[in-house]
Amino acid sequence: MIKVTCLGAAGSVTGSNYLVENTQGKKVLVDCGLFQGGKQMELRNWQDWGFDPKQIDTLFLTHAHIDHSGRIPKLVKDGFRGKIITSPPTVELCQIMLLDSAHIQEMDAEWQSRKNKRRGKKDMLPLYTTGDAAESLQYFSPMERDQIITVEPGIRARLRNAGHILGSSILELWVEESNEETKIVFSGDLGKQDQLIVKDPYEIFAANYLFIESTYGNRQHRSFEDSKEELLEAIQYAVSHGEKVIIPAFALERSQEILYLLGEFYRKGTLPNIPVYLDSPLAIKATQIFRKNKKYYDEQARAIVDQGFDPFDMPNLHLTLTTEESMAINQRPGSAIIVSANGMCTAGRIKHHLKHNLWRPGASIIIAGFQAEGTTGRKIVDGEKSVKIFREDVSVKAKVFTIGGFSAHADQKDLLQWVSHFNESRPRVFVVHGEPSASETLARLIHERFDMEVHVPRWKEILMLEAREVVREVKPGMVKPSDISRTMLNKIIDLENELGRLKKRLKEKEAEAKIIEGDVNRLNYIQEELQGILPE
Ligand SMILES: [Zn+2]
Repeated sequence: MIKVTCLGAAGSVTGSNYLVENTQGKKVLVDCGLFQGGKQMELRNWQDWGFDPKQIDTLFLTHAHIDHSGRIPKLVKDGFRGKIITSPPTVELCQIMLLDSAHIQEMDAEWQSRKNKRRGKKDMLPLYTTGDAAESLQYFSPMERDQIITVEPGIRARLRNAGHILGSSILELWVEESNEETKIVFSGDLGKQDQLIVKDPYEIFAANYLFIESTYGNRQHRSFEDSKEELLEAIQYAVSHGEKVIIPAFALERSQEILYLLGEFYRKGTLPNIPVYLDSPLAIKATQIFRKNKKYYDEQARAIVDQGFDPFDMPNLHLTLTTEESMAINQRPGSAIIVSANGMCTAGRIKHHLKHNLWRPGASIIIAGFQAEGTTGRKIVDGEKSVKIFREDVSVKAKVFTIGGFSAHADQKDLLQWVSHFNESRPRVFVVHGEPSASETLARLIHERFDMEVHVPRWKEILMLEAREVVREVKPGMVKPSDISRTMLNKIIDLENELGRLKKRLKEKEAEAKIIEGDVNRLNYIQEELQGILPE
């Protein structure tokens, strides 16, 4: 029997880490991420692994985000000497991400040590050092996607495009046990349809077991076009007040997406003529890697390149590498767009920009990414009147624009759409990588729609996976819905979601102005059509 232990991103969104073992005791790991978001969560990084790193020969890494890769230096420090199999862009991105993460660990430890000293306590050591991070890089082994490789006798694997960030992958894993092969699919983080820069997630049709992320399992993103408009409005709002636009963005992917959109505004002539700062050394380096890896772009990004543009550039763009350059930004009066890290406002240069601008009426704060519980970013989104930055209470007077449509994650609709391809093979589904309410909601919907067995594992839960038939037998007494009624059920759930959104929009003031009489007629038409399907 195959054993999977959920050692991270189970019941939470960070710390991704799954241990897969076969009966012969061969062990492979999937992801090795850092737990983030609050003290309690971060303490988990220091705990025992739950396995011996020396005994692991293979680690599959889905992508370079720190919540998936950030404990690799510690894994190597604790004895791992195997191969880290991942896509070529992920190898390049990890080279900068892990060193940066180590630097943050060192600074945190130094700060804590100084505090401890004053209290007569011992020094604090970092979780790992830049030396550990540099050391870990030699174990990376790039593997192009779409090819099957044998990693151990009886264990085969293939990476597929996950459409989440540059280089992100889904993992297909085949484990052979007494001549029976079990296929386990780990979705990794899935991108949404029409994600910028990268291609849409690869559609997989067969699996015995499926581990699926659920970051947005209970939410629908706003439409992307609306979000683009909102971004422009948020910029114009600050410009009209002569204030700054602050965009907290993860150095990896979100920063490049924002640049990509600003570039698009520029080419269309709608971008106000103000300086744009990419104020994050890590984001600047990541952007270079994006520029290099054109072969992984989607069609739209390629078209921009073919027209002779750099998708991440515009004439007013300033890349501020040094601290002095960064500090000078807030000395300069007038409007500017500042894209800075980190994305949840918990560390990095963004904290300085928030300290200088959060209290200024007329400034814009654009929250365009996921904000975990307990982070400063989440507090700003939740409308707190003041937040603590550098142990100082800063009041929130700037206008906060929460723009949902830029997420690099699939939303509920995208996730269900992606799962729908497994309709024939009916895997047993484990819903992971989500806050409990998001995972539970997605689990319920997957069960209702596709009649699949679904479970939401707890942190550290051990799952025993038996070799199983691909198509599950229908229990006696249970009516298996026909394809047509299942398709209809899916449509009804989509409709319910759309109606829910419409209802919500109607309660918003700005939406009211946009409603026209024709919309009422359209609703009447839909209602009549519905009545036609099931006449009384
Ligand atoms: Zn991710």
